[in-house]
Amino acid sequence: MKYLVTGGAGYIGSHTALALLAAGAEVVILDNLTTGHLSLVPRGVPFYRGDVGDAGLLQEIFHQHRIDGVLHFAAKSLVGESMVAPGHYFLANTGQTTALLQAMAEAGVRRFVFSSTAAVYGEPDQVPIPEDHPVRPTNPYGLSKHLIEAMLPWFARVHGLKWIALRYFNVAGADPEGRSGEQHDPETHLIPNVLQVAQGKREYLSLFGDDYATPDGTCIRDYIHVSDLADAHVLALQALAAGHPSGFYNLGNGLGFSVLQVVERARQVTGHPIPLRIEPRRPGDPAVLVASNARAMAELGWRPRYADLSVIIETAWRWQSRK
Ligand code: UDP
Repeated sequence: MKYLVTGGAGYIGSHTALALLAAGAEVVILDNLTTGHLSLVPRGVPFYRGDVGDAGLLQEIFHQHRIDGVLHFAAKSLVGESMVAPGHYFLANTGQTTALLQAMAEAGVRRFVFSSTAAVYGEPDQVPIPEDHPVRPTNPYGLSKHLIEAMLPWFARVHGLKWIALRYFNVAGADPEGRSGEQHDPETHLIPNVLQVAQGKREYLSLFGDDYATPDGTCIRDYIHVSDLADAHVLALQALAAGHPSGFYNLGNGLGFSVLQVVERARQVTGHPIPLRIEPRRPGDPAVLVASNARAMAELGWRPRYADLSVIIETAWRWQSRK
């Protein structure tokens, strides 16, 4: 099987490319390198530099390679940025993905694994959040992804697309073999920022809000190791190939950690005191996001290998402290 991985030079896409190669698949990568890095593209993999909305380039790729399916990671993914530049999010995440789906339909490529997000749920009524929880995003990022989720059944009905949308919770950690890891500039995510303090690259952690309705007042998230997330993509493709119906799956560990708990765990892992400064809430942040992962376990046979938060932080720490 040969798969096109958009965003394969990025954090999650590169880990999934490694998982696909390990499973014996062939991989082709498309990435415009705005946030990706050529150094994260696995050796020997055909690489195309360009946008996922570039119909001509997609046509060329589908012509040059017999692609069995597309895994679509290329996207903008920062809640805070989406609150100040919503149009960029709708253009990049919704507009360009629509162009990709159209190009797939024209080329007869019928399998699609979509990187969606827990941000589609907004403020949940219940945690852990099941997939049939109402969808009402509180930020443009979540909506830009949900709009694609809403289109997928139409591409299925009219063009025979088989799809799985994976709703990621908070992805963190790095390849345990050290081949890839998180490398954003500027970095905005909690775990790498905390580790930058431990490395001496930041003086303190800015903690965004300690007045949420949670036990310690800080936001609660469900952290999932990037290699476990990558494994789920391989399983999703295998399920589609076996005729499994299209649908939505949460990917998280089903465990919530507050920002303060993450900082405390990182202090244990790094031995650094990691000072913090309480700052105002970051607009668009829901108080609590924790996944029910029962569906992914039952239907895809997914089993996380690195669910322990300490292991997630340790692998990230090893990657961040590499020379
Ligand atoms: N956060 C924080 N300081 C930081 C980065 C993040 O306090 O430097 C908080 C953020 O407000 C949220 C949680 O950590 O409550 C996780 O944020 P992140 O950006 O890692 O992921 P998100 O949940 O936005 O996808």
